[in-house]
Amino acid sequence: MARLELRDLHAQVAEGGEKILDGVNLEVRSGEIHALMGPNGSGKSTTAKVIAGHPAYEVTDGEVLVHLDEDEFEDIEIPEDMRTVNLLDLEPNERAALGVFLGFQYPAEIEGVTMVNFLRTALNAKLEEREELFEDDEGEEAEADADDEDAGYDTSPMEGDVEEGDVGVAEFQEIMAEKMEQLDMDSQFAQRYLNAGFSGGEKKQNEVLQAAILEPSIAVLDEIDSGLDIDRLQDVSNGINALRDEQGAGILQITHYQRILDYVEPDHVHVMLDGKIAKSGDADLAHKLEDEGYDWVREEAYETA
Ligand code: ADP
Ligand code: MG
Ligand code: MG
Repeated sequence: MARLELRDLHAQVAEGGEKILDGVNLEVRSGEIHALMGPNGSGKSTTAKVIAGHPAYEVTDGEVLVHLDEDEFEDIEIPEDMRTVNLLDLEPNERAALGVFLGFQYPAEIEGVTMVNFLRTALNAKLEEREELFEDDEGEEAEADADDEDAGYDTSPMEGDVEEGDVGVAEFQEIMAEKMEQLDMDSQFAQRYLNAGFSGGEKKQNEVLQAAILEPSIAVLDEIDSGLDIDRLQDVSNGINALRDEQGAGILQITHYQRILDYVEPDHVHVMLDGKIAKSGDADLAHKLEDEGYDWVREEAYETA
């Protein structure tokens, strides 16, 4: 069981820029689906980017905590002093290694790297990073891997070498085929080159595929529904539901529109206004927002303030 906790999070545009987040409090546990809604410009994407460690933003107050059970990962026991971690102290690839999925890491188009190779490398990079994060200092592997520190998603896809403990080619192909079927993706997709001519919809499908492969404890998905036609919206939604139902992930689904919530039914709905959560409720809240817009939430929030 994992829990992502935003605690009084304040953030601004880097180097003394505009204040955007003004005290965000939010908790997402494994197995729960949360929708974060709100009008354009309210701070939803900034919330996702701050969790991801985007350099355009500066956190001025508050924390982003991840709480993990000792047996969160099958293969590694988490030491007691690492069961609560402030994500803001970690590099982006360490955040992923901890089990927090923060959207597709889009490297520049790299010639000759197929999707299947890219995703296998991403999975292995995550597993190696996780081992480095949690292993005790006496572990010999730390030294062996010391020169391998830059195994981030953006550099490692070109490395073809297989290390001990890596998921091998054949095993990975099986994993990927299964996940692609879940998402109703064409099997040829695995052999396509990274980023080469992907449509908007394919990029979104891809993002959910990457999440399915990395098996995060918590996934943050920003506007995964934008620009999808109805068939693809359904495929992507099936993928998100499987992340929760089959892998037990917690989902923070950021969306401007209610439409996707017909397919991915949220347990909790939050409305962001002016950089804060102004109201929370269940799925009915999303329906009310669809019918009545956001003005009533704003009136309510400022009446009681
Ligand atoms: P949402 O995703 O809810 O539409 P955003 O988080 O993208 O909103 O943006 C919130 C506000 O912060 C907007 O007014 C936006 O213009 C501003 N903003 C976000 N990122 C930056 C940035 N890098 N530089 C300047 N202003 C920004
Ligand atoms: Mg946004
Ligand atoms: Mg949207």
